[in-house]
Amino acid sequence: MDYSVVQQCMHCGLCLPTCPTFVETGRERSSPRGRIALMRSIADGELPLSREFAEEMDYCVGCLACQTACPAGVQYVSLLEKGRAASENAGLLDTPMRRVYRWLGLRLLMTRPWLLRLVARGVAVQQIPWIRRTLYMIGAMRLAPKTLRDLEPSAPPIDAPFSDARIKTVETPPAEWWSGKPRARVAVLTGCVQDISFARVNRATVDVLLAAGCEVVTPRSQPCCGSLHAHNGDLDQAKEQARRTLDMFDWQGLRAGPLAFDSVDAVISNAGGCGSHLRHYADLLADDPNYATRAKAWDAKVRDVQEFVWQVVGGGQQAVGSEATPQSRLERVLTREPSALAAGGATKRVTYDASCHLCHGQKVVSQPIELLKRVPSYQFVPLAESDWCCGAAGVYTITQPEQAGKLLERKLGHVKAANPDVLATANPGCMHQLNLACRDDASLANVRVAHPMELLAEACRASDAS
Ligand code: SF4
Ligand code: SF4
Repeated sequence: MDYSVVQQCMHCGLCLPTCPTFVETGRERSSPRGRIALMRSIADGELPLSREFAEEMDYCVGCLACQTACPAGVQYVSLLEKGRAASENAGLLDTPMRRVYRWLGLRLLMTRPWLLRLVARGVAVQQIPWIRRTLYMIGAMRLAPKTLRDLEPSAPPIDAPFSDARIKTVETPPAEWWSGKPRARVAVLTGCVQDISFARVNRATVDVLLAAGCEVVTPRSQPCCGSLHAHNGDLDQAKEQARRTLDMFDWQGLRAGPLAFDSVDAVISNAGGCGSHLRHYADLLADDPNYATRAKAWDAKVRDVQEFVWQVVGGGQQAVGSEATPQSRLERVLTREPSALAAGGATKRVTYDASCHLCHGQKVVSQPIELLKRVPSYQFVPLAESDWCCGAAGVYTITQPEQAGKLLERKLGHVKAANPDVLATANPGCMHQLNLACRDDASLANVRVAHPMELLAEACRASDAS
């Protein structure tokens, strides 16, 4: 437990109304303040590490809404990760099956990009409708373990081909999108789940960055960044994944190729949960003499794609590439003021659900909305409680299905009230959770769930065609 963080809590309780598990139960111990008090008692030796503590760590959604609300700046994410790691290391929730699934998921699949992609190819075949029907008809699915059978209908659809086949290592903006020297050179992170289930979002991200006038570098066969490990109490493997991610880049100019870290102006993430973790490698690797300095340089360059694009097109305080830069294709597409869009010409309604780790972890709040307000042909409609968790929260739908279901129901009520054609969100877990919900709810069957980058990329292509 990180005592220096624990003792920052002054017990004011301002975080309580923002905490989904406190609002649901009304129990102090299921609130941020209660969990921090438990941690402090354990650190002081007044309470033992107990099953009750482990269950509270597991029940926490990890949404970080408490971090936004906290006037004392308590970094709850660090407490949660260390609390979960302590509980996992002590084996407080262990069962033989849980151990097997954690090892298979966190230690086998999520540490070997080639294996994850191989398994995903197999799942893609199983997801072809007639093959899936046949497998059920001949009873082959009964051979799979019950847990996998239960999870199969809600498995994320595989989006092949994956990012390496859709994106070249180095791409420069076409002349009709940007003339002259690229205004910035950026590296794009393709992720693990994002890569196998939303490779189209990675392609759209690259397209938008090209349309903004950037040169884009995309390392091949990228490893998982380790956020899944950190959020699920496996901090040792999270550190190893962070080292592997840093090793993708050439830090001393020793290798021939495009991946010299110094030549990159920003490292771009398009997944809220991953980005929130990727920005804190310095904390994670502070005790590693071989990586601590690199991790600091890394943290300074990681940006969420929406934050970066909004800054590039001049929405931020300072445009990248300054001196009288000519407009890029993206700027030309986004020139219309939101008021002009609302007044006429908008044919579809788009709303935005914030990923918890994007808004509470990375503090990227207004940029996605400002971008969406300017996408031609769309009218932006606000979503009530858009910063309240949708229940996806990594593997929360598996570990806490009842509470995840309640959070989803609350979210869907607001989506129905907003009545959008497109529900935009920027995290693979949220996209999948909301996609499934819209599929299963007749009144939302026509709602498309999309990443803001997909809408921006489509607008750029439509502008090419017109
Ligand atoms: S992370 Fe979310 S669920 Fe957990 S204590 Fe904070 S507000 Fe509550
Ligand atoms: S808002 Fe911050 S200081 Fe106040 S109780 Fe919550 S965590 Fe502690």
